[in-house]
Amino acid sequence: MKIVMLGAPGAGKGTQAARIAEKYGIPHISTGDIFRYNLKNGTELGKKAKEYMDKGELVPDELTCEIVADRIFMDDCAKGYILDGFPRNIPQGRYLTDVLTKADQKIDFAIDVEVPDENIVKRMSGRRACPNCGATYHIVNIPPKKEGICDTCGTELIQRADDKAETVKKRLDVYHDATQPLIDYYKELGVLKTVDGTQPMNDVFEDICKILED
Ligand code: ADP
Ligand code: ADP
Ligand code: ZN
Repeated sequence: MKIVMLGAPGAGKGTQAARIAEKYGIPHISTGDIFRYNLKNGTELGKKAKEYMDKGELVPDELTCEIVADRIFMDDCAKGYILDGFPRNIPQGRYLTDVLTKADQKIDFAIDVEVPDENIVKRMSGRRACPNCGATYHIVNIPPKKEGICDTCGTELIQRADDKAETVKKRLDVYHDATQPLIDYYKELGVLKTVDGTQPMNDVFEDICKILED
């Protein structure tokens, strides 16, 4: 079960990917989380990626593609995985198809979580993230049990620097220009599935499970 999550920033990809990963026992691979982990640990990759992330731009493919290619062939990926935030443009999509083809593999599902731009800004301003375990909350829609504290690990939640309104606008532009064309790309590969991401979290999850179990 090899899955790609598509959708605008804030559509709920990460939220759904975490639940799918838990339910089906496959790894959740988020390039955003990998970059943030490197940033926190002050690695060379983290320093380079920060420059782009702060501006809401895509980190160059040279820094991104190889990381994913290494990750998806690790032992824990044998049963499948869920890619969240990769691919982000057509060259990354082609790169992924190529490395998989060479290994006689393919993506089984590309799930597009559809949410209109109007809803995105509200979602992003209320998003809170755990800097320790990566869990994501929303102050109104999906609040933690104790305000400001991660349910899973008890760490104090933060607002991501790139979730401020100007950066979100830029990220939405980047999404429409660079990422949205992947919807047609995966449609042509015959693996595109679409879910209505404006529904409550549990309903979106049910729709995705139906698709995966069909
Ligand atoms: P969101 O979940 O809100 O869409 P992510 O955590 O996926 O945000 O990504 C945060 C930032 O990390 C992006 O704005 C971009 O700078 C960088 N990034 C993440 N994944 C990729 C990728 N596949 N290619 C290039 N840059 C990426
Ligand atoms: P992405 O990974 O696509 O950037 P997230 O999963 O981080 O998106 O979700 C963005 C924000 O919206 C978070 O604050 C999250 O808690 C909230 N959220 C996720 N799914 C839903 C939903 N179905 N309804 C309302 N809010 C949601
Ligand atoms: Zn946590």
